[in-house]
Amino acid sequence: MSSNQRLRTNYGTEAAEAAEPEPGLVDERLLVLVLESTKWDLRLLCLASSVSRKLRAIAKRVLWRQLCFHRAPHMVASLMDGGPKGGRIAGGWPALAKLMFFCCGAEPEPSRHFRLGQRLPGHFVKASRFSKTSGRSFLPRKCRGDLLYVSDPCEHQMSDQNEDLGLYRGVFKGFMSSRTRACLIRRQVTLEDRVCPYCGARVWSMTTARLVPRSAARRLGSRDGRLEYFVCVNGHLHGSCWLIPLSSDEDNGRPGDDNDDDKSDDDGLMTNDDSGIYSSGSLSSTEEEVVGDSYSSPNAN
Ligand SMILES: [Zn+2]
Ligand SMILES: [Zn+2]
Repeated sequence: MSSNQRLRTNYGTEAAEAAEPEPGLVDERLLVLVLESTKWDLRLLCLASSVSRKLRAIAKRVLWRQLCFHRAPHMVASLMDGGPKGGRIAGGWPALAKLMFFCCGAEPEPSRHFRLGQRLPGHFVKASRFSKTSGRSFLPRKCRGDLLYVSDPCEHQMSDQNEDLGLYRGVFKGFMSSRTRACLIRRQVTLEDRVCPYCGARVWSMTTARLVPRSAARRLGSRDGRLEYFVCVNGHLHGSCWLIPLSSDEDNGRPGDDNDDDKSDDDGLMTNDDSGIYSSGSLSSTEEEVVGDSYSSPNAN
């Protein structure tokens, strides 16, 4: 071998090694162990995902899924219907993780049915409670067979409004085969010119589709016509509502004449008591509290 050839060979080897990250850094088992030791630290995983394309790919394929299972075992098992832990989920695991821990904020004019006048940035949440009993309130009667988890509203004070704004989010199990989707397709509801803040897919407005039951307003502590929500083609839900002030002596937003829902609060978890204030009880298999990391982001509200 000539010195030139040796040089080329050495250079080639060095270049290849330089291009390869340290093997330990991309060892899935090691990454899982590290993240397990941090109890699946959300920000550490965000950070790891931004280090390199290889780490991002591993996070997308393995780590976000593990984080979801660790942080919300009951809800995720329910969404997966007891399927294998290695299974896929519509929209991907990073999108579900984002939905669990991130309030997506709102645009000044989120839609033609809802006006805010100011932009609200998204933020990490300290904790969110997702409930399928709550989710039932967002399903029209004929779609009650679907399984939908919906979070408590994240409350935002609005400087120029008497009412607080509530932002909430949720996820369907098996949306592709859901009655809700079949109903949207059957009614030929067109997709909106906006995308899901969690997975980037197109969304349907349930208001436009006339599929918002009155029970949704009751559940949120809002009034009829004062809320809106969207569902993306992957089954992620996000929405906004005006929350009735707690001092309001109105009828607490509960028309009480549709008696089509909220009789299912048999888990005693999220009850809308006579004062109109939501109170929480013990957790059960119908709901799951997901807790963000204990320290807050500089951008978090
Ligand atoms: Zn929020
Ligand atoms: Zn989505």
